[in-house]
Amino acid sequence: VGKNKHIFTLVFVTLAALGYLRQLPVNLLDSKASQGELGWISYPSHGWEEISGVDEHYTPIRTFQVCNVMEYSQNNWLRTNWIPRQSAQKIYVELKFTLRDCNSIPLVLGTCKETFNLLYLETDDDQGSHFREHQFSKIDTIAADESFTQTDLGDRILKLNTEVREVGPLTKKGFYLAFQDVGACVALVSVRVYFKKCPYTVRNLATFPDTVPMDSHSLVEVKGLCVNHSKEEEPPRMYCSTEGEWLVPIGKCLCNPGYEERSNTCQMCRAGFYKSALGNLECSKCPPHSFSHHEGSLHCGCEKNFFRAEGDPASMACTRPPSAPRNVISSINETSVILDWSWPEDTGGRRDVTFTVLCKRCRGVTANGSNSGTQRCEPCRSNVRFLPRAAGLHNTTVTVGDLLAHTNYTFEIEALNGVSALAPKMRQYAAVTITTNQAAPSPVTVIRKEKTSRNSVSLSWQEPERPNGIILDYEIKYYEKEEQETSYTILRARGCNVTLNGLKSNTAYLLQIRARTAAGYGASSPTFQFETSPDSFSISSESSQVVLIAISAAVAIILLTVLLYVLIGRFCCRSKSKHPDEKRLHFGNGHLRLPGIRTYVDPHTYEDPSQAVHEFAKELDASCIAIDKVVGAGEFGEVCSGRLKLPSKKEICVAIKTLKGGYTDKQRRDFLAEASIMGQFDHPNIIRLEGVVTRSKPVMIVTEYMENGSLDSFLRKHDAQFTGIQLVGMLRGIASGMKYLSDMGYVHRDLAARNILVNSNLVCKVSDFGLSRVLEDDPEAAYTTRGGKIPIRWTAPEAIAYRKFTSASDAWSYGIVLWEVMSYGERPYWEMSNQDVIKAVDEGYRLPPPMDCPATLYQLMLDCWQKERNNRPKFEQIVSILDKLIRNPGSLKITANTTSRPANLLLDRSSSEVPSMGTMGDWMDGMRTLPCKEAFSGVSYSSCDTLAKTSTEDLKKVGVTIVGPQKKIVSSLKALDSHTKNGPVPV
Ligand code: AMP
Repeated sequence: VGKNKHIFTLVFVTLAALGYLRQLPVNLLDSKASQGELGWISYPSHGWEEISGVDEHYTPIRTFQVCNVMEYSQNNWLRTNWIPRQSAQKIYVELKFTLRDCNSIPLVLGTCKETFNLLYLETDDDQGSHFREHQFSKIDTIAADESFTQTDLGDRILKLNTEVREVGPLTKKGFYLAFQDVGACVALVSVRVYFKKCPYTVRNLATFPDTVPMDSHSLVEVKGLCVNHSKEEEPPRMYCSTEGEWLVPIGKCLCNPGYEERSNTCQMCRAGFYKSALGNLECSKCPPHSFSHHEGSLHCGCEKNFFRAEGDPASMACTRPPSAPRNVISSINETSVILDWSWPEDTGGRRDVTFTVLCKRCRGVTANGSNSGTQRCEPCRSNVRFLPRAAGLHNTTVTVGDLLAHTNYTFEIEALNGVSALAPKMRQYAAVTITTNQAAPSPVTVIRKEKTSRNSVSLSWQEPERPNGIILDYEIKYYEKEEQETSYTILRARGCNVTLNGLKSNTAYLLQIRARTAAGYGASSPTFQFETSPDSFSISSESSQVVLIAISAAVAIILLTVLLYVLIGRFCCRSKSKHPDEKRLHFGNGHLRLPGIRTYVDPHTYEDPSQAVHEFAKELDASCIAIDKVVGAGEFGEVCSGRLKLPSKKEICVAIKTLKGGYTDKQRRDFLAEASIMGQFDHPNIIRLEGVVTRSKPVMIVTEYMENGSLDSFLRKHDAQFTGIQLVGMLRGIASGMKYLSDMGYVHRDLAARNILVNSNLVCKVSDFGLSRVLEDDPEAAYTTRGGKIPIRWTAPEAIAYRKFTSASDAWSYGIVLWEVMSYGERPYWEMSNQDVIKAVDEGYRLPPPMDCPATLYQLMLDCWQKERNNRPKFEQIVSILDKLIRNPGSLKITANTTSRPANLLLDRSSSEVPSMGTMGDWMDGMRTLPCKEAFSGVSYSSCDTLAKTSTEDLKKVGVTIVGPQKKIVSSLKALDSHTKNGPVPV
């Protein structure tokens, strides 16, 4: 049932302009195209007559007529020539004819008929004039929709009827058509026989061949071939529908490097352009200082003296080394110099400019920097210091220290960029020559105590790092720490050690040393402290330090322990003071619940799950339960209907889920988990738990009984039988139940029509709760690439891709349920594979509106299917939208038209004109253009009114018996009817 509905393709929501790839009708026969005699056979010869006429363009055409209404027992046959079938499996026969109604013929003897029969015969070869009536099979009895119409003046005007019939599947090589007249007055104006095919097309740079659709109700999957100079990104595919339309393009090809897409082909980049990667980007113009002389270039070559560094993208201009830095200034401070300079005038077109400073010590240069004859330079000693560094400088300044005093240096400052290494000859630098000043020695930094006694101490030190000349002697200044430099002693020493005598015992002293050269004294060393030994107690200063350190460490450890103890104590007190309910916060699926709202508790957080069952479910006595019959099958056992009679309560109907024998402990836990969850809910749209039986066998879960079973099969059983308001009422119930669940912090994960139960009042209730097992027992759940089971068609993309299950992913599923309800249990995405569904949804395709679906509901579906999950409506909003619809049922009348296109079965775009004949006998004279012709440019049929009133019953009469197409036709006709009132039909 309804299988044929797959011709309603998925609609591309974000790109409405995508449109359909139109079918190509291929004519097998067109009587209008024949100028000469058609040569069809008439039996008997005085029956059908071949007559020449002209159409509305005065083009000669051949027609047949018969009008033996005055004679009894007419049986006049007209047979076409043999029509080869070609590749068609299903053909369409379009007849244009006029039929005179019997009342309009005076003196008719009562034998007059107002129909004729259309028949066919399949054969493998042309049988010439051999003709046997009984071999033909009837296609249909053809009646005129209108034989006459009344003009304003009361005249009756003859009308041209167009009827189309499908025939198929055809299996032999060809066929004949026959027209049997049994006493009507009919003129057959034209006969056209055609089949539909999906035409050759190029889509996403892949070619798809002419494809003949299957007669059965399934799509033909066609693989596309990449056009020349392109490569498959993802195998291109499309489906050819039974209606000859291309649907759902998936995958694509990309133009090779050097080629770009132009009018569905991959063309070489023009000279001066390039494309370096596979893709459907256009070729780019060569960047500055580069060129491509040939077509199809993958990249552009650099002009002379311009280069591309290794990591430079093809889109970057070619560049060159920078010019030299400018305006170098040096400021000398004794043995150090600060160098400053300006950026080069030309950075070579790059931003990665850095500077390098090369230091050379030169002889033969005068102090003012001028060259005095030959100059001999050598690299500076390695101990020269550069601040921040010598190479890779981003700023235009550097400090060079630790130079020799009174020495000539030359600094070469070079600007470098990413291509400097490629063009060594083009490199330029700026140079500056300086002479350092005469400088005093640097301070002594390292002083050691060699020996201590009660009255003396021996010290040694290291020569300053930069003596800047010959050290003449050292000055040693020392004083008692207590006296704060008010009196001190100075000693001189030539070497690097000294012994200080005559000191007080057990006293702290401070000491400084400075070196002297010809340039004077250097700076003093940092202050050094030492103590002399006490009188009675002699201990080396090192050991006293060790003792001191040990005592300090012990004190620190004790303090730290006390501190930690205090901190931990305070923290524990604070946790204890928390409200016991706060411990539950994490149960709500990571949602922070508001105080006052009950929160769902995951039974798996209980150490003993059977404790959870008894917290949330009532234990029933098995003797209160009577089982009547089996109504379904669950994962753990049968589902039965029955009655529950509790003491002093009325007997009620219940559903009883049983746990079949031989279960494992885990199965029992999982089975009862559903009851633990269900028992926490109390809402009119959530299936109510009556109780559980766990203390006797079989273990049972008892719930309220839902007479109409699951929603999907219920809707399929009652296809097209509910009013819009009834459907919206059911949907409102489901949304309200889901609002309750999401408020409780419960994410369902498997919301689908099959998991909704319906009671006798059409109240829908959400069911099928579980945790890990939710998806295990769902036949729709498929393993994803990550190994988990997911009901793909119902699940939001982020839940499929990375298991992000939230109330927002439930909202997506709700959109699918909405679609299922409005299409009366149609399978979402029909027979498409799960993989194709994932891909199509990812590419932005969404399910189309179901037949007769109110526009507001379709909009709600699309909102639920927003890719960005935060943009989907909350269940609260869904309930309020549906409430508004219920309060204002008029809004349900505006339907979301499936595709805004006429159904192909009855309407054919190619037969666009209606003839207005003047020369075919006097009763044909009155034919005029149809009243609704303008409204339906491109479409022709007998009368707009009849068309709109066409009912399913009418369609059954004309032989359309499959429910899907009927519904489609009727709704399309209704859509067309509304368009005649509102303007032209978009086709
Ligand atoms: P489940 O295991 O919940 O998927 O149930 C399996 C089948 O049993 C469903 O598809 C229904 O047809 C039927 N069923 C389950 N629960 C009920 C109920 N409360 N009332 C009526 N039928 C039910």
